[in-house]
Amino acid sequence: MPELPEVETVVRGLSRHIVGQKIKHVEILSAKSFLWNPKLTKSKKVGGKTAYPIPQEILRRTIKKISRRGKGIIIDLDKGYSILIHLKMTGQLIYIPKDKKPGRTTGGKRLNYGHPDKNFSQAMPSKHTRVWFELSKGNLYFNDQRRFGWVKLTPTQDVFKDKFFAKLGLEPFDKKFTPPFLWSAIQRHPKANIKAIILDQSLITGIGNIYSDEALFYARLKPTRLGRSITKPEVTKLYAAIKKVLEKGIKYSGTSINTHRTPEGSMGKMQNYLAVYEREGQPCRSCKGIITKIRVAGRGTHYCPMCQH
Ligand SMILES: [Zn+2]
Repeated sequence: MPELPEVETVVRGLSRHIVGQKIKHVEILSAKSFLWNPKLTKSKKVGGKTAYPIPQEILRRTIKKISRRGKGIIIDLDKGYSILIHLKMTGQLIYIPKDKKPGRTTGGKRLNYGHPDKNFSQAMPSKHTRVWFELSKGNLYFNDQRRFGWVKLTPTQDVFKDKFFAKLGLEPFDKKFTPPFLWSAIQRHPKANIKAIILDQSLITGIGNIYSDEALFYARLKPTRLGRSITKPEVTKLYAAIKKVLEKGIKYSGTSINTHRTPEGSMGKMQNYLAVYEREGQPCRSCKGIITKIRVAGRGTHYCPMCQH
């Protein structure tokens, strides 16, 4: 699942290319993937397997701003509506400018974001396309093989009342995110392991499996350590490590574990700089230890048994 750096990469990339464009048409190919705020147009399945009602609220609207909250994407339109997107496990956003034929893989302008797979080089829409936005200068495709991701339409004033956004904790780059904040969050969960605490989106938002493993490595903390065992100096180190790994992730445009190259080169490169994540069996980058994979908080967890205590 994309984490804060990956979603930030999507937001920055799309901002450069689609802000200012008008939404000319929307094709909803999977009702499950497009959710309405209940106050808006009633969504009803209508005849034919691919035709779903088009939300009138977004037609002819101009894209004003794209931002991120946690792992969620917020696209603000004019006239008070917003589109919310979560990519979850297999979601993708693919933008192809109109001067290129759909599916053309050369030309260097196609943008591929999200879970990397063969859709990154295929003609669009594909069998995994769930929502298709025709914009004034190009087409934006929301693909999602497993359909856990979503696109939602809501009035802009209700964005943070949305059940996903309403539950999110502090952003790691928010000024209020400080070592004392992290300390008190950990203190409130004495029996939870430190990995589960930093993965808890209601405490700090945007950290997932990759960046939690990385942050715990740089903080030299074993992922199974319980909240009550963590000392104040360790919290200070963990705080710095969280910021460091997220900043590094953003700098390298996120992590792409499956490396399918695209002409645009929009794949993240953070995988080349990971210290522990998906490196089990390989030597630690700072000692002679071997990176080990265990299960913590229900997640495959990577750490160095010699560096992390
Ligand atoms: Zn080590």
